Amino acid sequence: MPHLLIVEDDELLRDGLSAQLSHAGHTVTSASDGAQAQSLLESTRFDAVILDLGLPVIDGFTVLRWIRQRLAALPVLILTARDGVEDRVQGLNAGADDYLTKPFNMNELLARLQAMLRRSRLPAFAGTLEVQSSAAHRLRLDPRLPMAWLDDEAMELTHREWSLLTLLVSNMGQVVSRDDVLGVWQSAPAEGAGGSNALEVYVHRIRRKLQDSGLSIRNVRGLGYMLETSGT
Ligand code: CA
Repeated sequence: MPHLLIVEDDELLRDGLSAQLSHAGHTVTSASDGAQAQSLLESTRFDAVILDLGLPVIDGFTVLRWIRQRLAALPVLILTARDGVEDRVQGLNAGADDYLTKPFNMNELLARLQAMLRRSRLPAFAGTLEVQSSAAHRLRLDPRLPMAWLDDEAMELTHREWSLLTLLVSNMGQVVSRDDVLGVWQSAPAEGAGGSNALEVYVHRIRRKLQDSGLSIRNVRGLGYMLETSGT
């Protein structure tokens, strides 16, 4: 169930949005100013943010820029005033994924939100790579830093394990050849287990770390390895 953060200082609108989005099956947390929004974003993982631009304490633009510096892949939909063309342009330039002008239609908001969440789950979108297993576990990877999370738990990965996993995730369902992996590894720091036969060692280690995740690495004889959801 997607966890949404609504940042809106208009109490009536905030409560209305919370009620409707909860009713539509989302988990909703709300904030009434920019500072509250930032402290929630620091402590909780959200799937998307609905952000009003005109906010007390810390304004929406500042919050948006703050989000983009820390949470590059987090989808943000901004709410702007009807006549705020400048705000809209400025908001999109500052990294908003979409916008709606007030007053808006609730069905339109839901549709935009769904589209935004769907896009954010596609591999290679914006920042984080993400795949979901048949057992509804979610594997996320930062394609630039050696970090990965299984559901919301950080995985312990070495640099080579992470680069191998990144390659498998971005080619989910397709074979990744031994040469592809070794090519990527050329730029990764050595970890004392060099040599081509060490690939099996790394695959074995990642398999152990993905145990019970519903994701598995298949050995395609003579071709390479393929990440797939278990039982397919
Ligand atoms: Ca406002």
